Amino acid sequence: MEKTVDVIIIGGGPSGLNAALVLGRAKKDVVVIDDGRPRNAVTRETHGFLTRDGISPSEFRKVAKQQILAYPSVHIMEDTATAVTGTEGSFEVTTTGNKIVKGRKLLFAVGKKDLPLDIPGLLEVYGKSAFVCPYCDGWELRDQSLGIIVGGDKAVHMAKVISGWTNRFTILTNGTDGLTDEQREELKLHHVPVLDSPIRSIESEEGMVRQILLEDGNNVECTGIFFAPKLVIGSDLAKNLGCEVTESGTVVVNEFAKTSLPGVFSAGDAASEMYQAITAASLGALAAVSINSELNAKAWDKR
Ligand SMILES: Cc1cc2nc3c(=O)[nH]c(=O)nc-3n(C[C@H](O)[C@H](O)[C@H](O)COP(=O)(O)OP(=O)(O)OC[C@H]3O[C@@H](n4cnc5c(N)ncnc54)[C@H](O)[C@@H]3O)c2cc1C
Repeated sequence: MEKTVDVIIIGGGPSGLNAALVLGRAKKDVVVIDDGRPRNAVTRETHGFLTRDGISPSEFRKVAKQQILAYPSVHIMEDTATAVTGTEGSFEVTTTGNKIVKGRKLLFAVGKKDLPLDIPGLLEVYGKSAFVCPYCDGWELRDQSLGIIVGGDKAVHMAKVISGWTNRFTILTNGTDGLTDEQREELKLHHVPVLDSPIRSIESEEGMVRQILLEDGNNVECTGIFFAPKLVIGSDLAKNLGCEVTESGTVVVNEFAKTSLPGVFSAGDAASEMYQAITAASLGALAAVSINSELNAKAWDKR
């Protein structure tokens, strides 16, 4: 693509697509580069998104793309961005399809992704009866008997959160240490069992958890699981370009979605630790307004 577009958006999840919608409506030339690996692809339904509660992730994207493509200045490329160079006003993104996209502003909306799950049987139930976020899927598992797989130091926090949905759950620290005596005492006081043995495997039928088998011979019968996955950013491109990132890899942005580099923005899971589709979409919209303001201010000065 020879033309220099106003904005290149890398990532076409809720954040990147909502940014594209706002920018398209603001008459800006936009290219969204997306390789279609959304973090919630494993799940059947997305919850908690007003007017879209229960929609499948693929249907969500289909409707979003249909609506965005009504704005002629927005183009969506199904490709992977592999390298980004340049500075404000003249960025270049190279893709695996050997395309080069040139743009004035950049938005990283690359999301986060799970590192491989290391508990045998977890992959089979992930997104069906094992979830990561009670705000997303707690309602579906309400009042059920649950296994909460969580590292020691976060156990009390998770117990408090989960207790809003059910009072029948067991904390499984999966062999990780870190619970203090005070924390164990607090969980005991609230009648929350804690099992420290490493997990051997998860037994399930057609994606539905039946029991969690522990190395010490104990079994926990349950119908659902919440667990804390290890997350990494969807792509290191922002970091490689020189954007400041946190220790966990999240892109550092200010309240206007600006990164530490001029002309470079980030939104959604990539730049936040509040993992919800509606939050990602709203951060994408915010980034779009911020980018559009800068583009308009520059055009205004040239008039
Ligand atoms: C199992 C599960 C269930 C969930 N359920 C819910 C729910 O019910 N409700 C809810 O609100 N939230 C839910 N979430 C969270 C929600 O999925 C995320 O918060 C949301 O998808 C984040 O949107 P995003 O646009 O930031 O990132 P994503 O949706 O992850 O999109 C990022 C996109 O960027 C693309 N990308 C990355 N790098 C590149 C590259 N180099 N080149 C091209 N493209 C690239 C990816 O392929 C992907 O398409 C769930 C998450 C999980 C894991």
